[in-house]
Amino acid sequence: MQIVCLDLEGVLVPEIWIEFAARTGIPELRRTTRDEPNYDKLMNYRLAILAENKLGLPDIQKVIAEMGPVEGARAFVDGLRETYQLIILSDTFYEFAHPLMRQLGWPTLFCHSLEANADGKVVNYRLRMPDQKREAVQRLKELRFSVVAAGDSYNDTAMLGEAHAGILFRPPEKVIKEFPQYPVTQTFADLRAEIDKAFATRAAA
Ligand SMILES: [Mg+2]
Repeated sequence: MQIVCLDLEGVLVPEIWIEFAARTGIPELRRTTRDEPNYDKLMNYRLAILAENKLGLPDIQKVIAEMGPVEGARAFVDGLRETYQLIILSDTFYEFAHPLMRQLGWPTLFCHSLEANADGKVVNYRLRMPDQKREAVQRLKELRFSVVAAGDSYNDTAMLGEAHAGILFRPPEKVIKEFPQYPVTQTFADLRAEIDKAFATRAAA
């Protein structure tokens, strides 16, 4: 009865907005949750910049389709799914993630959605619910699953705290310093070892 909850961007795939910023040459779009922990502020800022630059959903999706998962991510995901149930909890949007999920073999994804008008302009974003990563972990625990969660950034720390065990993967220095209670991993092999160790420790308790 073991579930792994994984963040997506910065763990299994590149930061979608950073890649998009590089390909479009708009440095303002490089801001992520690593820079601005307030997600609503960050999204409104991004949508305004997209509108200013007249960039719509088809432009964004074209860039994302050309991005791949992080090297080794598909094998890591496949290996995890042989042993555990896996749910990806992400603050991205289904419209963005779709081509990347294909390359990861369609694991389960809980995230948010975008609203575009007939011209493809992104006019709004819809958070499925506030604090969805932590809420999902809490509900899975109520369903009697043991939950180990892993992520790289601020928007994962509530999920890591709610899980029976939380693990950081390739986090920025300031996250390591602010959240010293979580083990830090840098490779998929290390992350897999920490996940296995966390479940084994819990099973033995
Ligand atoms: Mg992330």
